[in-house]
Amino acid sequence: MKEKGKHGFVIVYTGDGKGKTTAALGMAFRAVGRGWKVLMVQFMKGTWHYAELDTAKRLAPDFEIVPMGKGFYRILDDHYTEEQHREAALAALQFARDKMLSGAYDLLILDEVNNSISTDLLPLDAVLDFLDAKPPDFNVVLTGRGAPPELVERADIVTEMREIKHPYQKGIFAQKGIDF
Ligand code: ATP
Ligand code: MG
Repeated sequence: MKEKGKHGFVIVYTGDGKGKTTAALGMAFRAVGRGWKVLMVQFMKGTWHYAELDTAKRLAPDFEIVPMGKGFYRILDDHYTEEQHREAALAALQFARDKMLSGAYDLLILDEVNNSISTDLLPLDAVLDFLDAKPPDFNVVLTGRGAPPELVERADIVTEMREIKHPYQKGIFAQKGIDF
């Protein structure tokens, strides 16, 4: 029998500083060590190949990452319509809900879901509904910039990553092994 705490938390990593997704990955790393089953559902992400997808394969079946997004919305090489982004976000949330209620997982990470909310691809109410369906001992992590106040209010743990410095300010773009 695996030992579990009595409390299941809603944990939010937000803000414009670097470290939100990697903090969630760190939680997954710790949880797997406890014998927990962890699932990360990626919102927005789905076009770039992030190295954590390969790391997760090494930790399978205890840790799984499922990309369900259509990439950056309205920036860079976005070839998808708003409707397609919207459908992808809703499908990701429904998938996450089914997995949460399946009883097969202990920790679920909704990576970049806050961005889906703040860009109006995903209704905030749908996410609050999802959290209402959360079993009391189940843990959910929500990452991404711009977590709305209602989500902050609903969460148990909220950490804001604040940018103090980032090479991007000097025109240095995402680096392999550090950013993806
Ligand atoms: P990470 O995935 O490294 O933990 P993050 O989840 O906090 O970063 P996001 O807001 O999801 O960051 O940003 C997506 C991409 O932009 C990632 O490649 C990330 O490394 C990079 N990034 C994060 N913070 C900044 C920043 N302040 N300026 C520029 N790029 C950033
Ligand atoms: Mg991120």
